[in-house]
Amino acid sequence: MYIIMLGKPGSGKGTVGKMLSEELGIVHISSGDLFRSYVKNAGKIGEEIESYISKGNLVPDELAIKLVEKRLSEKDCENGVILDGFPRTKSQAIELDRFLSTKNQKVDMALELALTDEDIIERITNRIVCTNRHCREVYNLEFKKPKQEGICDKCGEKLEQREDDKLETVKERLEVYKKTSSDLIYYYKEKELLYSVKLNIHSGKTSEDVAEEVERYLKKNKR
Ligand code: ADP
Ligand code: ZN
Repeated sequence: MYIIMLGKPGSGKGTVGKMLSEELGIVHISSGDLFRSYVKNAGKIGEEIESYISKGNLVPDELAIKLVEKRLSEKDCENGVILDGFPRTKSQAIELDRFLSTKNQKVDMALELALTDEDIIERITNRIVCTNRHCREVYNLEFKKPKQEGICDKCGEKLEQREDDKLETVKERLEVYKKTSSDLIYYYKEKELLYSVKLNIHSGKTSEDVAEEVERYLKKNKR
């Protein structure tokens, strides 16, 4: 099964995506994490990627597609993937469909998490993440504090604020999302693959609740 996660930066795609991945027994791939791993490890290509990410701009389609398809070709993706952060443009979506069709696969669901910009800003500027790239657990200084300040509960490594989670860059990322997302959402809506969940950070609806709702839906519709 292939599930696409759509939503503004910081909408909870990563957290919900990881939960679904555990429940459904398929891998969770975050394009953002994938690209950040290149920034840390691979020389020239890493520098190029960093120049986009640090400004809150998108990595160009051609490069984004190449790196994600390389990852999707690995063995652990055979049974399906929760794709978080990709596709982010309509051309990426078209290219993904083409790629999957060569493997006799298709997108089964596009899950959109919808929040207002105000909620997003409140959430992201309180976000800290684990620096261990094999862990990448996400915390929130208001809603999900680590037990020990600055230390990951899961693996004991240091936590940090992502460079692009600073307020100015978040605003830029929201602008970019606005420009690219409506085409993408329409693309999946037309194919009747869109499942949208409206969220409000003070409503008490948690990421667990969303993941459970989606699992129930998938079961009922036998996807
Ligand atoms: P968020 O969804 O919280 O903004 P991500 O970790 O998904 O963060 O992405 C961080 C950055 O990585 C984006 O701002 C962008 O620069 C780059 N990126 C991630 N996915 C894509 C993609 N599909 N296409 C182009 N750039 C991407
Ligand atoms: Zn950790």
